[in-house]
Amino acid sequence: MSDRFNTTEEYSLLLDSEDSLKGFRDRFYIPQGKIYMDGNSLGLLSKDAEQALLSALKDFKELGINGWMDGNPAWFTFAEQLGKKQAAFVGAREDEVIVHSSNTVNLHNLVATFFKPDGSRNKILTDELNFPSDKYAIDSQLLLHGLEPEVHNIMVNSRDGRILEEEDIVNAMSEEVALVILPSVLYRSGQLLDIQYLTDQAHKRGILIGFDCCHSVGAVDHKFSEWGVDFAFWCNYKYMNSGPGATASLYVNRKHFDKAPGLWGWWGYNKSRQFDMDLRFQSAPDAGAWQIGTVHLFSTAPLDGSLKIFAEAGIDRIREKSLSQTGYLMSLIDSLLSKEPYSFSIGTPRQAGRRGGHVALEHDTEAIRINSALKKRGVIPDFRFPNVIRLAPIALYTSYHEIWQVVGHLKEIIDKKEYEEFSLTRETVS
Ligand SMILES: *Cc1c(COP(=O)(O)O)cnc(C)c1O
Repeated sequence: MSDRFNTTEEYSLLLDSEDSLKGFRDRFYIPQGKIYMDGNSLGLLSKDAEQALLSALKDFKELGINGWMDGNPAWFTFAEQLGKKQAAFVGAREDEVIVHSSNTVNLHNLVATFFKPDGSRNKILTDELNFPSDKYAIDSQLLLHGLEPEVHNIMVNSRDGRILEEEDIVNAMSEEVALVILPSVLYRSGQLLDIQYLTDQAHKRGILIGFDCCHSVGAVDHKFSEWGVDFAFWCNYKYMNSGPGATASLYVNRKHFDKAPGLWGWWGYNKSRQFDMDLRFQSAPDAGAWQIGTVHLFSTAPLDGSLKIFAEAGIDRIREKSLSQTGYLMSLIDSLLSKEPYSFSIGTPRQAGRRGGHVALEHDTEAIRINSALKKRGVIPDFRFPNVIRLAPIALYTSYHEIWQVVGHLKEIIDKKEYEEFSLTRETVS
């Protein structure tokens, strides 16, 4: 935060007035009467995404099967076209990104492709703060190789249960490690790992490395190709605002286009000859090879609208505002809520280069009930067991004034002991 920082409402309004991205808020549907702080879990619908979906439905209505080639855009190459557009926001070359399937399925395919156990180099390095789905997928891939998750999935420990030290990860890159898979941003603490450094270190040791970027793409700028990352994968329903279960994306570095994907299907076939119906698989010469089956048109179309917004706003400006907003939120918490009786603390690293798009607000004893009290007050946060309330200001639609209001709500919830009204149980989806 700048020297001007202060905790007044006027200051939050001043920041809004100086915000060059503020016009994008009107492109989104903000739930009425709510302050939405959960865009890191499910980004809101934009009018652009809605239009893209309606237009796909219209093409289907009017064209039937001719939509494959005559749709606008043509369905047959839709995933490739979107991949090309999204590549610009992750620092990839145009043919290195494809929009396909779900994040977990893509991870399966990427592990099936890049994990080639060779003698004693037969382990996968992950971390103990990993997202469960990633751990399940990796462990089941080990089992398919006849290996044992307890032995062959090495999980780097966190020293404090919140963040991972890059040094500890590098120290674990032993000669037994064939593949490293890490998150770009940790889903609980919001820590951003140093992707470039970890990629260099893995490659120096002859190890391949890939990143789960669910919590960074759309909030953080990446340079996958320049850094030489082997592969990456992410979902498009978080910061990419493309809707629940939106089709996911994956990145494969060009240097691996000579490798056959681990899981074959006709959508990964060389596109120009897909309808030859040849029974011998021949993979596409680009990231398109990692597709398995037919494009899910209606789960994919909203991304086209989202990407239009990203193209106008630019990922650099989005990242800059995101850092400014999370910085502002943390400064307010430090100034107003860190001492007793509030006793909040922040689990997210402070340095700009080490954090993603959300702030992990910790409260040792009452986090779950404070989270419920926030919801009752019209704030939508989310809760991660046992003591983390995640708050994500989204550069495209959250205002500084809303951030200021959220901190005011937190203060009143403690002042009035409002959390005492709520039970200690967690909801099924939190
Ligand atoms: C959101 C998220 C997922 C979800 O995977 P899906 O297949 O889309 O359900 C996986 N990994 C991480 C790190 C996530 O943040």
